[in-house]
This record gives sequence, C-alpha cells and structure tokens, in this order.
Amino acid sequence: MISVPENIHREVEELRQQLEEHNYNYYVLDNPTISDEQYDKMMRHLIQLEEEYPQLATVDSPSQRVGGHVQQGFKPAKHLVPMLSLGNAFNEGELHDFDRRVRSILGDQLVEYVVELKIDGLAISLLYQNGRLVRGATRGDGETGEDITENLRTVGSIPLKLRHTVEQLEVRGEAYMPKEAFAKLNAHREETGEVLFANPRNAAAGSLRQLDPKVTAKRSLSTFIYAIGNVQGQAITSHVEGLNWLKELGFRINPNIKTFSDISEVIDYVNTWSEKRFELPYVIDGLVIKVNSLAQQQELGYTAKSPRWATAYKFPAEKAQTTVEDIRISVGRTGVLTPTAYLKPVKVAGSTVSRAVLHNEDIIKQKNIRIGDSVVIHKAGDIIPEVVEVLQEKRTGSERDFVYPEQCPECGTKVVREEGEAATRCPNLHCPARSREGIFHFVSRSAMDIDGLGPAVVTQLLQAELIKDASDLYNLKFEDLISLERIGDKSAQNLLKAINDSKNRPLSQLIFALGIRHVGQTAAKTLASHFRSVNKLAQATEEDLVSIPEVGPKMAESIVNWFGQKSNINLLNKLLSAGVNAEIVENVEPENNSLSGKTFVLTGTMESFSRNEAKEVIEARGGRVSSSVSKKTDYVVAGEKSGSKLQKAQQLGVAIVDEEEFKKILTAQESE
Ligand code: NAD
Repeated sequence: MISVPENIHREVEELRQQLEEHNYNYYVLDNPTISDEQYDKMMRHLIQLEEEYPQLATVDSPSQRVGGHVQQGFKPAKHLVPMLSLGNAFNEGELHDFDRRVRSILGDQLVEYVVELKIDGLAISLLYQNGRLVRGATRGDGETGEDITENLRTVGSIPLKLRHTVEQLEVRGEAYMPKEAFAKLNAHREETGEVLFANPRNAAAGSLRQLDPKVTAKRSLSTFIYAIGNVQGQAITSHVEGLNWLKELGFRINPNIKTFSDISEVIDYVNTWSEKRFELPYVIDGLVIKVNSLAQQQELGYTAKSPRWATAYKFPAEKAQTTVEDIRISVGRTGVLTPTAYLKPVKVAGSTVSRAVLHNEDIIKQKNIRIGDSVVIHKAGDIIPEVVEVLQEKRTGSERDFVYPEQCPECGTKVVREEGEAATRCPNLHCPARSREGIFHFVSRSAMDIDGLGPAVVTQLLQAELIKDASDLYNLKFEDLISLERIGDKSAQNLLKAINDSKNRPLSQLIFALGIRHVGQTAAKTLASHFRSVNKLAQATEEDLVSIPEVGPKMAESIVNWFGQKSNINLLNKLLSAGVNAEIVENVEPENNSLSGKTFVLTGTMESFSRNEAKEVIEARGGRVSSSVSKKTDYVVAGEKSGSKLQKAQQLGVAIVDEEEFKKILTAQESE
C-alpha cells in the first residue's frame, strides 16, 4: 500500500470538515451556502482521494453517510428499513459504467431498467397501518428521520387512508414545492422582508420542518411517491408493478416512467429531458435509473450509502454568461424601490432572459455589480433569473458603478431606508408609481379579480386621465372605454361587466385589494372573518388587532396607519358608495383556507353531498372546483358510478379519493 503524503491527509480532513458544514447548512438549516455543483465536485474529489488511499477511508466520512441529521424539536423516527441516497452519474460514460457494474453482478440475465424523473424536493417516508397513515418522516441520516406526521397530514396529495386496506405499508417519495408556488412564496417573503429560499427544494424542506403545521398547510406542497420501503400482505415482483399498485391505493405517482432493456436507450431517453424539463411545473435535477426486477435488486444489494441497483443521472446546472446593460429602479405599491439588471438577452433554463431582479442596494454591493459587467446568471428553481456572480477578470475599466438614487425616480421625493431594513422606500403616499402599482394590485386575480383589466389597460386609463385611483374604475362608462386604443365594443362591454361583477367579491378580497402593507391574502382572510365589515376594521385599534393570534404588532401598526390616512378613507368611501361589498353577509366567507391552491374535480355521486354542496364546502376552504381533469388537478373525488374522469385521473397519476377520504380531507384540515 502506498503511504499517504501529509498534504493529502490534510486535504482529506479539510474536505470532510467542509462537507459536514455544508451538510448541516443544507439538511438542517435548509440554507445552503454553495451550489449543488460545487458540493458534488468536493464530494467527488473526496471519494477519489479515498479510493486512491484506501487506508484513509473511515465509516464516518461524509462519503459513506447519508447526509441529514435530526433537528431538535422533532421526535426521532427510526426507519423500518434504512432510507439511503443514490449513486450519481454526471455523463453518458458514467451511465455505461453503472450498466457494466450491474451486468457484472447479474451475469447473463436480461436486465430491464426503469427511468423516472428525479424530483428536486426532499425524501419522505409514510407509514400506513391497516390502511391509515400513522407516521410521516424525513430521511434524516438514513437510519433515523424526523417525525413530521402532523405537517405531512396537511399535504393534500398524501392519502390519510388508503383505497384498499393493507396490513402494513411504508412508502417513500419526494415532497416538493411547484415552481409557481415557490416564486409566489419568495415574492411574499421579499415583501415582508424575510430571507428568500434559494430554491424549491429548500423551500419544501423549510416548509415541512415547521413546528406549526398551519404554516406547512399554507405552503402548496405536493408529493410524488416512487418506492415501497416495506410491505406486509402483498406480493410484488417488480418496481413498475409496485408503482401501479401504489397508484391504485391512492398515491400520486409521476406519469413519466419508462422501461428499457438497453443502456443506450436509457441515455437517449435521458437526453430528451435535458430541455423538456423546463416545461414541467416542478423542478427535476436529473433522472433516476433503477433495475426493475425486485429479485435482481436483491441480488445487487447496497453499499453503505446507496443501492447498487439504481443511480441518479444529474443534469449539469444551467448557467449562462451575459452582460449587464443597465440597472433601473422601479417603485412598487408600498413605495419600495427595486433595482433590476437589464441584461443582454441570453438563453438559460429553457427561455430567454433579459432581466434579473437585484432586490436591494446591499445585494448590488455584496455582488459588486456594475453596469457593463460580464456576469453569470441562472434561474433559481428553474424560474427566477438571478445574477450568480460577476466575472471580475473580464472587467475592462469601462464598467460604471450604479449610484443608488436618493430621490424617488418617479416623484422626486427623498427616499428613506429604515434601520434594520434592506429596502429603500419612497415615502410619498401620492407618488404616481405607488398609485399605479396600487391599482394593478387592486384589479389582480387574488384581489378584486377584474378580468381583462391588466396593467396595460390600467396604464391607458391613467394616461387618458379617466381614473386617478381604484375607486374611479367603478364610474367608467362605455364611451370612456371605447375611446381607448385597441378597445372595441365587445371588450368594453366585457370590461364593464367584469368591473361590475367585482363589486360582489368577498370581504377578504377587498381587504387584500386595499394594499395595506404586511396584509397578505391570509391575513386579509383572518381580518375579514374577525371583523366581518371593513368599517369595523377601520375603527380597530392596535390593541384590538394584536389580540387576534395571527396579527403581530407590525401588521397592527400598519393597518391603523393605513386607515389613519385621509386619502385612504376617501378611497374607501368612494368604493363603498360605488356599491362594493364591504361585509360578510352570510357565513360563506372562506374562514379557513386549508384547501387554498388545491383543485378538485368531482365525479360520480356521493351520499352526503350533492355536486353543489361539495363545491361549496371546497370553495369555503379556499379550494377550487374544475370540470375537467388535468395535470394541475390535485384530487379527483370519485363517488359512485364515476366514469371517464376517473380513468383520466388514473392515467395522469392524479390522487383519487372516495367520499370517506374526501370528508377526512375536509375535517383533517379543519381540526388544525
Ligand atoms: P440526491 O439528491 O443526489 O439523490 C437521492 C434522492 O433523490 C433521494 O433521497 C430522493 O429524495 C430523491 N429522488 C427524487 N426522485 C426520485 C425517484 N424517482 N426515485 C428515487 N429517488 C428520488 O442525494 P441526497 O443524498 O438527497 O442529496 C445529496 C445531494 O444534495 C448532493 O449531491 C448535492 O447536490 C446536494 N447537497 C448540496 C449541498 C450544498 O451545500 N449545496 C449540501 C448537501 C447536499
């Protein structure tokens, strides 16, 4: 055996220490400080050194262990069967190596590979006893995870009861946050000054490892189940057969699963996803290749860290180089100044990017971004363009520092930056930018939901001086609208109808539409169900407000301030005289939004609900009912005599629940 040079000793030690630190940031804090690519590179280097100098290998090296730890605050959950990681392949050659290793053990046997998408979320284990969910856990260190049962119960796609009773079943899958939900969550966090999640994986992990399940319930998480960990009472011979059975039991299974008998076909298939993946509504970071036969899986066995019968092909991180052509500031409805980098258009993660939000002054300073700089960009969660770094070595001296404005670029008022805040604001309540953005917000879908009235038409109306604030929308006439460019008779009529319809929105939407700082959709619902009238809310003191459990002092202060402004009271009075609904008349307001973001399709007949009643109870919890099944459907509620919708749901892998389970979903969420 060759002796180990001192510098290699040190290097290995350092790599191990650094990897431990990164594991902690990633798995425990859900806040990585380096990219996965950098992490993978360090790990490969460590493995390579340990292979070269086997005497350095230890059982507790990060190369030998599954990454996570159990966080304080959660009960430990010992897994019935260890939850391992996966080996990696980063290129075609490594997929061939995997195939060779498999065939060297299996000899002449025919091998069938199953290829699945590698969903970028976090691994979960769900344990069912006699058909009921009794425990849900994270992977943790592979042996022991964190018991997050109550949080997982809030995730709509997880059946609380199986469609057929099985004595004992443990399944594994990935809990993830869809791209759109991730973008929304980060936008909301930005508005409330919270730290942003680096990607949907961290957002999903952070959401599931909450001590309060109510927080998890609001986070629009979903799942794909991809394996049976342990089963009693059912004989299964292949992975695909297992997945089909899981689908019948009511689990959400990803529909993109294919089998191949040759590794070259696997490689071709993998390549078809390198671009197509950006069209998916969730992030995948690769594909997983598994041996289909369970007998062969058993023969192949496991290493300390991963099965020998599977590997993960990882896509290279999508990055691109471009130039910052300009940095411009926009002013939002709460007066926050947001700098945006205008980039030379470049293709990254499936689309052309020409802008990246830089968030605030500190970020520009930290990243040291100048106009004219060459930069590397990527898309966080495949969706939000970000400047990763400046290529300092490409500077020519012609780059310009960006001078952060001291005055609002729209109205010239001196801007302010409060202590401890990252945001700079225009304090002028009458700033034209703030009014314009306020109207954009007022008409938006989650607010007054005025169909057809987007930013372009609002801008036209403002320019033509037909409106000054949101309340003026309700005085618009047919002649006003057709006087605008590109608006004909038909669209004018539709717009007038949409404006008129918006008068009947629930109180919570009106409260949200007012655009009070710190009052998001959920807070608006809480305030609506507590005060039941906007006038009562207007009269509330800070004391009244903080006595509501969900309302903190910051929000209370902001609400009282808002109603203390004369111009706001004028706006409100004008809205009220226009006939906008400002109270809860009957108890149809969604007091509970446990199904917010969830889409249901109803099929067949149920005993305790007519179609309309089922629709009402779903909508009363903030859910939506659609008439046709698509990939976006979260649940198909199948009563007696269900027909083609049920088949479609099975094809798409949408969760199917019966009446019994439907009631559970309603009550389980209520009892939280
Ligand atoms: P992994 O993410 O590379 O692969 C294993 C995981 O894939 C499984 O545990 C499972 O959760 C998931 N998966 C998704 N779809 C699947 C499917 N269809 N079938 C089976 N599994 C599926 O391994 P890991 O151990 O979870 O994480 C290690 C990776 O995490 C590293 O390679 C690195 O990229 C990243 N990491 C990054 C940092 C950092 O600081 N940036 C730190 C630690 C780990």
